[in-house]
Amino acid sequence: MIIIMERNATKVNIQKVLDLLTDNGFKVRCTEGEIHTVIDAIGDKNTVSPGRIAALEGVKEIKVIREPYRLASRDGQDEDTVISFPNGVKIGGNNKPVVMAGPCSVEEDFEGLLKVAVAAKEAGCQFLRGGAFKPRTSPYDFQGFGEKALRYLKKASEETGLLTVSEVMDASDLDMMCDYVDVLQIGARNVQNFKLLHAVGRCNKPVILKRGLASTIREFLLAAEHILYHGNKNVILCERGIRSFDSAFTRNVMDIASIPVIKKYSHLPIIIDPSHGTGQRYLIEPLAKAGLVVGADGIMIEVHHDPENALSDGKQSLPIPMFKEVMERLNRFSNRLHYEKQYLSADV
Ligand code: PEP
Ligand code: MN
Repeated sequence: MIIIMERNATKVNIQKVLDLLTDNGFKVRCTEGEIHTVIDAIGDKNTVSPGRIAALEGVKEIKVIREPYRLASRDGQDEDTVISFPNGVKIGGNNKPVVMAGPCSVEEDFEGLLKVAVAAKEAGCQFLRGGAFKPRTSPYDFQGFGEKALRYLKKASEETGLLTVSEVMDASDLDMMCDYVDVLQIGARNVQNFKLLHAVGRCNKPVILKRGLASTIREFLLAAEHILYHGNKNVILCERGIRSFDSAFTRNVMDIASIPVIKKYSHLPIIIDPSHGTGQRYLIEPLAKAGLVVGADGIMIEVHHDPENALSDGKQSLPIPMFKEVMERLNRFSNRLHYEKQYLSADV
């Protein structure tokens, strides 16, 4: 359970609550906020009932957490988490969904990356994505250009004003990566790499956490919990499709339902990645729209200046002319949906 103390609770009041809990075998974590002190207590509610704690002086409110992902859960925090960037971009809550676009991997050709970045900026995207360290199934495939790719991303961001996103595969790269990118990404294959989750948890950069190839929603939220537990509250979830039995037409199964389910149980923002979710260029637009309809806070799209010769994921990457057309329709769709949501919520 989470115990919120009154704003004028004294140190003695707080200590009495802590003593009652620890004497009865609870593990406690006490956080002094600007206004309220909050005590997170894990233990057996049958030994000390919430009612007994509520009777102590200085206790304002008790929230009983039913889910194992305590910090990610709406039981602990009802209002949506909103992640704000210094340039005014916001993800989550009632903000307009953001778009992150860019190549699967940043390649040697900087001019190619810049073409994508300029097209993304002109199309109204807020983020440029691009892999520098690539988790590839085969060791013989392109593994990414490493730090050089990050320098390219930063340069493209300076020329366009886009924020940047790139995947971190190893905790030892974190400090270096934080000098280059605005958002760290944990890829689907590392969703349960707990040491990596803890390391990004100790960073102050926002993190996009992708759903694992075979993660249940509960496992996905518990992976986010690891990051939150280590102190980083700026976690953005990303639904990118899961493995199932039929990969004849799509690379993965785009689990659209996970978005409203996660919105119901967690306050964290969630974006959709229809590029990896479907593996098919022609499915990006309809699935991006579907994601927006069910409440996604953003879309991630792979775009390449020359998909036929891309070093990774060319088949699912939009060529620039097609990307521009898709974005024109997506923007119209997203604006209308956003307007209707605001209009409807103002009405009720
Ligand atoms: C990617 O975003 O390029 C990527 C590798 O995604 P995922 O981890 O979802 O496969
Ligand atoms: Mn990719």
